[in-house]
Order: sequence, then C-alpha cells, then structure tokens
Amino acid sequence: MATPDDAEDMEWDEDDATFASEADVTCPYCGEVVSITLDPGGGTVQSYVEDCEICCRPWQLTVTYEHDGSVEVTAEEGA
Ligand SMILES: [Zn+2]
Repeated sequence: MATPDDAEDMEWDEDDATFASEADVTCPYCGEVVSITLDPGGGTVQSYVEDCEICCRPWQLTVTYEHDGSVEVTAEEGA
C-alpha cells in the first residue's frame, strides 16, 4: 500500500536541487573553516580564486561535483 513505485514522476533534472550549493573549506593560510557559497550551474569542475573571509588571502579553489550531487572543494594557496 505504501509502495510508491510509479516511477514516472521521477525525473532527473541536473539543473535542479540535488547539487550542493555550499561547502566548508579549510583555509590553507590561517586554518579557519569557512563556509562558502558555490555555483552548481558553473559546471561539474570549477576552478577559481576567492579570498578568505578571515585573513583575506586568496585561495585557489577547485570545486568538483560528483554524480550524486555531492561536492568536493579544495582550497590551496594561490600563486
Ligand atoms: Zn584564512
């Protein structure tokens, strides 16, 4: 009775919802953990520079989305 198996309503909409829009990164300079806002529409692999909110030094960020919408973010010391 509680078996919802009409899968017709199930759509994969990759432009929507399931992709994480925030992540926590550890600053490579000051070691603080900072929450950042992500742009899931920017592609599955993104690389850009963002300044640390705490110490204002520039991170080289690499953002990688997985198939399940989870995200991996790496912050490194910028050049
Ligand atoms: Zn910092």
